[in-house]
Amino acid sequence: DAPTFFLRKALDAFPPYLPGKPAREVPGLTAYKLASNEQAAPPLPEVLDAIAEAGREPRFYPDTFGTVLIGELSRLLDRPRDWFILGTGSSELINAIVQATCDDGDEAIYPWPSFEMYPQVTGMAAARRLEIPLTADARLDLPAMAAAFSERTRLVFLCSPNNPTGPALRHAELEEFMRQVPAGVIVVLDEAYLEYVTVPDAADGLELQRRWPNLVLLRTFSKAHGLAGMRIGYAVAHPRVIEALTKTVMPFGVSAAAQMAALASLRCADAVRTRAAALSARRDQIAQELRDLGYRVPEAQGNFVWLPLAEHSGAFEDYCADHALSVRNLDDGVRVTIGEEPGLQRFLGLAREFRGRIPEGHPALADVVVPGRA
Ligand code: PMP
Repeated sequence: DAPTFFLRKALDAFPPYLPGKPAREVPGLTAYKLASNEQAAPPLPEVLDAIAEAGREPRFYPDTFGTVLIGELSRLLDRPRDWFILGTGSSELINAIVQATCDDGDEAIYPWPSFEMYPQVTGMAAARRLEIPLTADARLDLPAMAAAFSERTRLVFLCSPNNPTGPALRHAELEEFMRQVPAGVIVVLDEAYLEYVTVPDAADGLELQRRWPNLVLLRTFSKAHGLAGMRIGYAVAHPRVIEALTKTVMPFGVSAAAQMAALASLRCADAVRTRAAALSARRDQIAQELRDLGYRVPEAQGNFVWLPLAEHSGAFEDYCADHALSVRNLDDGVRVTIGEEPGLQRFLGLAREFRGRIPEGHPALADVVVPGRA
């Protein structure tokens, strides 16, 4: 008989976080993983040197205040040092913010589909979760989110570009939203894919934060900086919020190697920017090719594209796996990372073949009118 334990009931309400799968080995094919929005370009030599250097002295705890890195961020983003905190990826900071804001029964509002960590950590805190569906074109529905505010609202998550669907928030719509947020409610703008945004009128979180100090920005070194394995991200927030977060993050969580790697990467800003620009250009081509095949592909502003395949998502994931390609099936659709070029070529070929399996009139197709808010 399986033993039973005193485990929290709240855990039953949400699934565990399931990471993207490694690509399946298929004889004769090189396997490619396009499932976790990781960086395909090789690490920068300066970053590898920084990690090696930090690795030579493992005896001591890292600087838990991240003094040198935060000094650099403070200079680059033109904010005082006490507006920053580091986390073991922005994942830790998402959790830390929920721990700092939500008591039992408090409400957290977030879009859905969006990053899976939002339901997981708010569920763990026993907060009431209000999931606001995206619009028909897979954008955050800010008016609907604003309509959900109540006396118990403590926290709002916004994700721009939205993982997994891709669209970016516009400056004017975010400004309008911020005007409606009740006093004291913290709004988290998760900017994990910020470096890939190319639309000119995208929301500028730093600018809006000057007027709305309840806006918290989350950034990560996992995507454009290619440091997902090092686990490092940061928040930019009002010092009162930062002070609260210092109590809910793990002391000494962010390793010295992660801090040194992030600093080295910031100092290679030109190379990072050039790579991100090349990726964004390739993303736009791929999104267009998929639309030319007939797929409905929403605005893509991250390092990924979204195919809203609905009940065909599992079949497409399996079809890709049979061809040594790992993509991410998230039930509503399939997310594909703009990764290594041969993998992308194979993906486009498979998407072309799979198109024939989707019946006319299905919402995954571009020429079908989808009901709901446009
Ligand atoms: N936010 C979003 C929207 C993400 O997609 C991810 C990673 N998939 C994260 C946060 C967390 O990234 P990390 O913890 O590696 O910084």
